[in-house]
Amino acid sequence: NGKWRDGGDTRVSEDRDPYTGEVLVRIRLANQHDLDEAFRAAADAQPSWSAMLPRERSDVIRRAAFIMECRREEIIEWLIRESGSTRIKAGLEWEYAHAITLEAATFPSRADGPIVPTDIPGKESRVYRQPVGVVGMISPWNFPFHLSSRSVAPALALGNGVVIKPASDTPVTGGLLLAKIYEEAGLPAGVLNVIVARGGAIGDSFVLHPVPRVISFTGSTEVGKHIAKLAAESEILKKVALELGGNSPTVILDDADLDLAVDIAVFGKFLHQGQICMAINRLVVDTKVHDEFVERFTERVRRLKVGDPGDQDTAIGPVINQSQLDKLLGHIRKAREEGARQVLGDEPQGLVLPPHVFVDATNEMSIAQDELFGPVVAIIKVRGEDEALEVANGTSYGLSAAVVTRDLERGNRFAQRIKAGMTHVNDSPVNDLPTCPFGGERNSGIGRYNGQWAIEEFTTVHWISVQHVPIHYPF
Ligand code: NAD
Repeated sequence: NGKWRDGGDTRVSEDRDPYTGEVLVRIRLANQHDLDEAFRAAADAQPSWSAMLPRERSDVIRRAAFIMECRREEIIEWLIRESGSTRIKAGLEWEYAHAITLEAATFPSRADGPIVPTDIPGKESRVYRQPVGVVGMISPWNFPFHLSSRSVAPALALGNGVVIKPASDTPVTGGLLLAKIYEEAGLPAGVLNVIVARGGAIGDSFVLHPVPRVISFTGSTEVGKHIAKLAAESEILKKVALELGGNSPTVILDDADLDLAVDIAVFGKFLHQGQICMAINRLVVDTKVHDEFVERFTERVRRLKVGDPGDQDTAIGPVINQSQLDKLLGHIRKAREEGARQVLGDEPQGLVLPPHVFVDATNEMSIAQDELFGPVVAIIKVRGEDEALEVANGTSYGLSAAVVTRDLERGNRFAQRIKAGMTHVNDSPVNDLPTCPFGGERNSGIGRYNGQWAIEEFTTVHWISVQHVPIHYPF
């Protein structure tokens, strides 16, 4: 509610740099009472915020984007230190967050509703697009600044109040930094609130709280499903927007330009050490080009600079924490046991895991079915387009995908048969543009962000009909 204060819990969270282990900040955690206060503050502040002129709301959002420009280096440094982002990834994340904030600044004047022609004489049907009220936002640690921004900026622009619960590993870049930016931008007190708390501890009451009408969640499929269940069980039903896990295939067809395919595969797999929902999990390669692709890809990956994320040209920095590293080592062990052949890989140094490449993988292996979320990749050899498609679609996920071919229309036809929310022909599956629909199918989630789709997520419509002449009712 416009004040900066410690949480009411007795526990203190240590926010650490995953590369150096240094404690960046200690934060006293929020408790249930703080959570309740945050939601109430947002509910109280929201009506006058939504009553402001579209231009006034837009100005606040634009100023936030301007502050991001002025503080670009500071934000990038925080992303490097708090989330272990390489300098390259931190720069890209800043761009994504800035771009969606500018896009959101156009939303106040775009939240319009039609007058719908009807077949009832004298009836005028008006559709009013209104804010939902308060949005509860839970974000993950991998792209904290962007993934919070892509909900916060649209939700605010459209006249909602917001409460953010950032991930425990990234309380600053996923929440507090945004609160600071919007405070400087002149957002009225109470409209945006941040709660720093452990997801497991406060998560259920966050979702079950009666105030938020929409829960915007980005995170794992497991937690997302739990949230969907809670939202359905809430005393008053609420809407969920779920952006969940992925298992992106990148299909390299027999006519692919292999230089391009290698560029796409290296970037799409290893940006942010593979800790991206859209990151390539499986490389599905036609038998005709398989061996040559594997050779060239492995050679390129071998030369990637691994280590200090602050260095200008580091490609692979640390993973976020020990438990993620342990999970990855488990995936690697299992891949070997199940018979995938490791052609590249080395021991971790601290939290830095060098890239691991496995060939002779099949789609049934855990390395293909599980979301790896790290610098580990499975290469699966296939014969022809139909088998490639079957493999690409053969998981429970459906977030992003890519296909590489010299024949763009063949790529487009193939893409249309992929079960995913986003597919890119001759580009990496890691793609996020502020005007294009972002989201997944199946276990990758429900709903879409960005552009007009975000307007749908964070508003509701109210049909109001005006009957100009009396109706003759049958009884
Ligand atoms: P996570 O599900 O463990 O945590 C996400 C957030 O949920 C965190 O803020 C966490 O504190 C909170 N949380 C945990 N348990 C909760 C509970 N019971 N109730 C409420 N909140 C709870 O995910 P993560 O490890 O932070 O992020 C990695 C996952 O996120 C991957 O699966 C990745 O694919 C997915 N992801 C998806 C997208 C997308 O846009 N589809 C983007 C980024 C990450």
